Amino acid sequence: MSTITRFAPSPTGSLHLGAVRTAIFNFLFTKKNKGKFILRIEDTDQERSTDDSLNEILKSLKWLGIIHDEGPYVQSKKLDTYKKLAEELVSKGLAYRCFMTNEEIEQLKDQAKKEKKIYKYPKTWRDKTDHPEDLSYVVRFKTPENRTIEFHDTLRGKIKITSNNLDDFVILRSDGYPTYNFSTVIDDAEMEITNVIRGEDHLSNTSKQILIFESFNKKPPTFTHVSMILGKDKSKLSKRNGSKSIDDFRKEGILPIAILNYLARLGWSHGDQEIFTLKEMVSLFDIDNLTKSPAIFDENKLRWVNSQHIKELENEDLLKMIQIDFHDKVNINLALSAAKAKGKDLLSIEQSLKFCENELISINNEFKEDLLEIGTEEIIRGFYNELLSLESFEIDNIKSCMNAFLDKRNLKMKELALPLRIILTGSKASPGIFEVISILGKELSIKRISSYLEL
Ligand code: GLU
Repeated sequence: MSTITRFAPSPTGSLHLGAVRTAIFNFLFTKKNKGKFILRIEDTDQERSTDDSLNEILKSLKWLGIIHDEGPYVQSKKLDTYKKLAEELVSKGLAYRCFMTNEEIEQLKDQAKKEKKIYKYPKTWRDKTDHPEDLSYVVRFKTPENRTIEFHDTLRGKIKITSNNLDDFVILRSDGYPTYNFSTVIDDAEMEITNVIRGEDHLSNTSKQILIFESFNKKPPTFTHVSMILGKDKSKLSKRNGSKSIDDFRKEGILPIAILNYLARLGWSHGDQEIFTLKEMVSLFDIDNLTKSPAIFDENKLRWVNSQHIKELENEDLLKMIQIDFHDKVNINLALSAAKAKGKDLLSIEQSLKFCENELISINNEFKEDLLEIGTEEIIRGFYNELLSLESFEIDNIKSCMNAFLDKRNLKMKELALPLRIILTGSKASPGIFEVISILGKELSIKRISSYLEL
C-alpha cells in the first residue's frame, strides 16, 4: 500500500511553527516513501476561519517549498457530504439529534462549575424519540459505554482510553457545519490516508476519531503524535514567549531551508548532524527517530542554522534574494562572498552591503563623532597617499599596504581601520576593512576618502 498523508491546517490564524513542523514531518515521510502528500483546509469553524489566514497559509507553504501533490481540498465546500453521513449514522442508531439549547448547556456548565465537577453532557436526548418539529438540533455521536479504545502510536506505543471518559460529542452543529473530529475522519477515510502525523495535543481527539472510523467500518490510519514545541519558559509556544509566524521569519531574512532544517531537527535526529539539505532530510528521515520529549524553540539556534545555510548559497542565488543595486565599479562577487561569511540573515546582509550602491556615501550622524578624534584626519590623509600609489587592489595587497603604513607610523590597526571603515561605508556594520577596500576598488575608495578630506 503506498503512503498517503495530509497536512490539514485550520485557517484561523497565521501558520505557526508547531503546525509547520507537523507539515514538514508529513512531507519528509511521504517523500521518503515516494507517496502522496495532500493539502486539506479544515475550515469548518465558520466563526474563526478567514480568507486572509487561508491565503497566508498557502503563501507560507509555497515559500517553504512544502508542496502538496493533491489539493488543496476545502472542507466548507462539501458540507452536504458531512451532513448526509451524519444523518446516516443517526438512521443506523449510532448518532442522535440533540435539541438542547445553548442556554440549557450554559446552565449545566455553570452548575458543574459551582459543584466543582467537570461538565459532561448528560445524554438527555440519547434515547428520546419524541423529537420536536421546529427546533434546530445538533447531531451527537452515541459514544459506546464501557469500551476500551485502543490504538498503536508509532512513537508512544499502545494507547488505551476508556470510552466512559468521553462525552457524546457533537459531530454536526446546528448551522450544518461538521465538527473537526467528524470531518477529519470522513476525509481521512475518503482520501485513504495511511499515516497521520500530528501534535500530541490531538491525542484525546484520536480516540473519538477511532470510534467514528469504526462506525463507518473503516480502518483508521497509523497515528504518530509528535511532541509539542514549547517556549523557553516551558509553556506552549505562543507569541508571548517568542513564537513568530512564518511570514515574520521570511520578512526578517530567514531562508526557507533554515526553517525546514531547524524545525525538522527539533524532535528528530540523525546522529549529531545539525545542517541538512532538503535532499538529505528526505533521504535520512526516519519516523522511528522522532523524540517524545517536548522541543524547546530557540531563535538563536534557528539564526545559527540560517547562517550556515547562507554560507552555502551560490553568489548568484544570494544576489536574487537581496535588494542591493550594486554600483558598476563594485566587485560584486567579492561583496557577496564577504557578506555571506558574516551574515546571519538576509536583512543584515542587505544592511552590510548598502555601501556598495552609490559612488559616495553619507555618514550617519552617530558615527561622525568617531571621526573627530584628534589626529584621525592626518592618519587618513597619510593612508590616502599610500592608496593613490597602490596598483593592485587585491585583498592581500591592501593588507600589506595597510600593515606597512601602520608599522611606519607606529599605529594600531583600529586607529586606521575604524575611521576608514566609517568613511568608506558610512557605518560600522560591513565586511572587514581589507574586503571593503577591495570591493570598492581604487576609484571608489579614493573618491570617498577625498570627499571626506574635502580634497
Ligand atoms: N485542523 C487540525 C488542526 O489544525 C488538524 C489536525 C489533524 O492533523 O488532524 O489542528
